[in-house]
Amino acid sequence: MHYFEKVFDGQVLKWCVNGAELGGGKPTLLCLVSNETEAESCLSKLEPHCGEAQVTALILPGGILPETAVQSLVFEWQTTGIIDKCKLSLTASQSCADAAWQLISHLSHCFSAAAILGGHADPYEVRAAKFMPLKVYTFAGEGNVLADGKVLADAEKLVMSLRVTGSETVERTEINPENAWENVFADGEIVRWLLKQDRRTQLEVTWIKPGFWRIDDYFTATCYLIEGRDKALLIDTGMGEGDLLDTVKKLTRLPVEVAITHPHRDHMFRIDRFEKVYLHKNDVEKIREDENCFAAALSDGGKYPQLVPIDEGSVIDLGGGVTVDVLNLGGHTENSVVFACAHYKALFTGDAIGSGYIVLMICPEKDMYKVLESYKKNLECFLPHAEALRDYAWFGGHSIQENGCDEQHQQDYLAGRSVYYNPLRLEIVQDMVVLCEKLITGEISKADVMSTDEHYCNYGSAGMYFRFI
Ligand SMILES: [Zn+2]
Ligand SMILES: [Zn+2]
Repeated sequence: MHYFEKVFDGQVLKWCVNGAELGGGKPTLLCLVSNETEAESCLSKLEPHCGEAQVTALILPGGILPETAVQSLVFEWQTTGIIDKCKLSLTASQSCADAAWQLISHLSHCFSAAAILGGHADPYEVRAAKFMPLKVYTFAGEGNVLADGKVLADAEKLVMSLRVTGSETVERTEINPENAWENVFADGEIVRWLLKQDRRTQLEVTWIKPGFWRIDDYFTATCYLIEGRDKALLIDTGMGEGDLLDTVKKLTRLPVEVAITHPHRDHMFRIDRFEKVYLHKNDVEKIREDENCFAAALSDGGKYPQLVPIDEGSVIDLGGGVTVDVLNLGGHTENSVVFACAHYKALFTGDAIGSGYIVLMICPEKDMYKVLESYKKNLECFLPHAEALRDYAWFGGHSIQENGCDEQHQQDYLAGRSVYYNPLRLEIVQDMVVLCEKLITGEISKADVMSTDEHYCNYGSAGMYFRFI
């Protein structure tokens, strides 16, 4: 067996793979093991059921998880494309079950599914994995343990902890401890199930308050559903490949209409699944002139639904006094809008001012200053509204970016390691105006912007990236 070794975060990590090495962007099963003997035994049992997929055994001596090092390794696999980043599933030998629980608790978005036999973990932290497809095998007579004054619950109690938060994706099976691992994986059914699970189709629903939900997809695009008396409004459709319509229908019995903040693929994917869509009038016009201009928003063969043009001052009436006001805030796209709802005291900003990290400006390089002038003017028009809405809750199009744009560290908050928190608020709008001003006057020069990797600049709480097309 050939082993690979690499140092991350001062820790040597060692793993082996079925086949020569990881590659080809295939579905991948990661199995945590505590030594070489386990690695070879696990690989030999998993490999026959893997088909075209790949399986790798990562050695964690003593079953102890060097969490930040493993996070770096997984991130490297996922960002270099050597595995299918949405199809990385997890299992562990019994000696590494605790490590597997810890990983899904702190890095729940890295894994498409997990199968864990026994083990102990923090029953509160594990709730971060409530949307993960999870098969848990429990042994009779286990119990909680205390470690460093902290309670670590046994696997059956961890399942209960997930169930009381509403998890519908966790399944428990009680098994005999004798040859448990071999028996669970013997017929290959679990391996095939693990490798089939796909983050692209998984949606996470968060209840905000009565009649108001947030839905996040694998791409970290966020949509919101709010109910009035007569109908419900879905703000953006994200980029997930799961059945969003079905999810929304489970949340509300009202007819659902869709309002789009801006026509990027990660905000209006598959709008053909819905019947009526509100979109800025200029973007509706663009579609009427050229059906293909936002074609990435449609399913294969899909047709645009009824498009209702909106503009500054438009009001979407959901009945019972629940209305949504449309405010223009072009910049990220020329016709981006934000939605304000007094009933829920909520402001939905899409990507118009970023989601707590940067606003992305996309334009030909020659138009940089024209776009900045226009964005500044739009921000100044928006500012009095923003001041009046200061105490609303502000919701962006990519919720997790309140915790930064660095994908590797976006989930650090789950492990209590976050070093960034910049929620959407009035201050970002105010700072964004100053940032535009500094760019336009040359106080921040184009050369300064061009000298950074992502064409980045910032002022106070506001940041900007330029993507030149
Ligand atoms: Zn966008
Ligand atoms: Zn976006």
